[in-house]
Amino acid sequence: MKLSSLAHKLHGAFAEPGCPVCRLTADSVHHYLGSLIYEYVNKVPTHMAIRAARGFCTNHAWHALEQITPSHLGIAILYEGLVRNMLKDMGEITPNSGRRQVNQAAKALKSQAECPACTHRATVEDQLLRNLLEHIDQPEFAEAYEQSAGVCLHHLRMGLDQSGYNAEKAQLVALQQTIWGKLQHHLAEYIRLSDERYAEEDMGEPGTSPRRAIEQMAGKKNLW
Ligand SMILES: [Zn+2]
Ligand SMILES: [Zn+2]
Repeated sequence: MKLSSLAHKLHGAFAEPGCPVCRLTADSVHHYLGSLIYEYVNKVPTHMAIRAARGFCTNHAWHALEQITPSHLGIAILYEGLVRNMLKDMGEITPNSGRRQVNQAAKALKSQAECPACTHRATVEDQLLRNLLEHIDQPEFAEAYEQSAGVCLHHLRMGLDQSGYNAEKAQLVALQQTIWGKLQHHLAEYIRLSDERYAEEDMGEPGTSPRRAIEQMAGKKNLW
């Protein structure tokens, strides 16, 4: 099996629960936020990106604060610059300021760029999906994919939106249908066994199917 480094990572993630693209994207975004806060916090492009985006989006802002430790000094440095510049761009408003001045202040609040972590996430998702499609014709890779949870609904749609890869898309969808067929069977078994008053832990594989259904349809919790 000849794999690119990203395909190799995907292959490794097939053995883990949930969507492999969600899993690897979440890891990559976490490292990106960590390196931004430690290594790039004093770099001009980082400050420009944060200012243009008017801060991280809500999810990535809380991720940076709560899951990158210790992040507080880095956040203080980035957000001091952001708030200072935003105040400057708004212009000073007094209770007597006219509509034009208030409109100018309102305009200054708008973001001119996407959250940099969201941009990073989109790039990583795109690269992973291309690598998934580019390797799906390798039997060993495809077989491991078939045994995995498959990509979530969102990432399957994104994969099918890539231009080209027509034969590879057909292969991916065929494998995905096998995976979902298994899931549907497990869910039907779950319902049947619940009727017979089985406890989840005594159901075997179908016992985990409600959780897997959510993971496989909705993707990883808190990824966005
Ligand atoms: Zn996913
Ligand atoms: Zn974001």
